[in-house]
Amino acid sequence: MPGDLLFIPGPVTCAPEVLAAMAEPMVNHRGERFAGALLAVREKLARVYETSGEVLVLGSSGTGGLEAAVVNLFSPGDLLLSCPVGNFGKRLAAIAKIHGADVEILDTEPGHGLDPARLAGRLRQDRERRIAGVLLTQNETSTGVQNDMEALARAMEGHPALRVVDSVSGLGASRMPIDGLGFDAVVGASQKVLAAPPGLAFVALSARAWDAVARAKMPRFYFDFAKAREFGADGQTPWTPPISQVFALNVALDRYHAEGTANVHARHSANAAAIRAGVQALGLQLFGDIRYASPTVVTMRVPENVQASVVLKTLRERHGIVLAGGQGDLKGKIFRMGTMGAITPADVQRAIAALGETLAAQGFASAVR
Ligand SMILES: *Cc1c(COP(=O)(O)O)cnc(C)c1O
Repeated sequence: MPGDLLFIPGPVTCAPEVLAAMAEPMVNHRGERFAGALLAVREKLARVYETSGEVLVLGSSGTGGLEAAVVNLFSPGDLLLSCPVGNFGKRLAAIAKIHGADVEILDTEPGHGLDPARLAGRLRQDRERRIAGVLLTQNETSTGVQNDMEALARAMEGHPALRVVDSVSGLGASRMPIDGLGFDAVVGASQKVLAAPPGLAFVALSARAWDAVARAKMPRFYFDFAKAREFGADGQTPWTPPISQVFALNVALDRYHAEGTANVHARHSANAAAIRAGVQALGLQLFGDIRYASPTVVTMRVPENVQASVVLKTLRERHGIVLAGGQGDLKGKIFRMGTMGAITPADVQRAIAALGETLAAQGFASAVR
């Protein structure tokens, strides 16, 4: 049964071999077969992350990974500088707030990336070094913006705050050597660039992060990094893991590394460029500042007099193509088209043609010029 072609920014279209791994017989999660798979996954993830540090694998969606990073690194009352550039950044701030952090927001207009000079300026003002953590989003899925992480890393040089990064929709699609850039906790998830089913989050942690884990006082039980590390050494997790997802991710990571990091990066960039060119040729306007255009999510404005929900429904029902709409204030105002997952350039062209046809049927004139 061929499914719809998913152009949403997660979950994404999975390769047949990845899906087949989900159908493997169940095994003992304290046995050798599972330990082998988990240790292999952690080693392959460390290569995606370009880190010599430890990568923890958690049984949760990406949001669980973000919550885990916050509660394991900080204490109630800690001042955290949150730098959202869209909805997912706001979610990370909300997580920190609900666990008792004192959250200060450095806001950015939707569609733009975080200005490194503003971040550097705020940190320079913090002479007493009260800011304990900086919360960043590498790739903001709600607006299709990718921050310049190298410039942001430079902007934070010399300040001791821990650097927490939501890289859920960015990890693996472009270069971010986290050891070299000095990030402390970088969160990813299985259902995005790595093109596995949802259900697993990952957190890469620096040595500084591990020191913070020992001091951090936010309450935690399920997401306890110290326990995850202890069990992880033996290829286990503290609690029953989503075993089938680990098997699937192991196959997805083999595919990733067989294709090669540079080729995977190039594929996402090329598909994003093809989508941008294709929708502009249809007469659509891209959303946001092109200098921060994401390789994994392309955003475009919904034309006047076109109803986004009708377009999305028609694309799915008539063409088997699933795009995403806007979130929050951008609902009805933008379409979002992801490049993640097992999709080909031909799939991209088919999706753009279907979008053009659907818009034309709704009377969008310049779609047919
Ligand atoms: C998908 C995503 C998440 C996590 O979402 P979950 O539904 O919890 O997996 C977090 N941040 C970003 C930027 C994302 O794209």
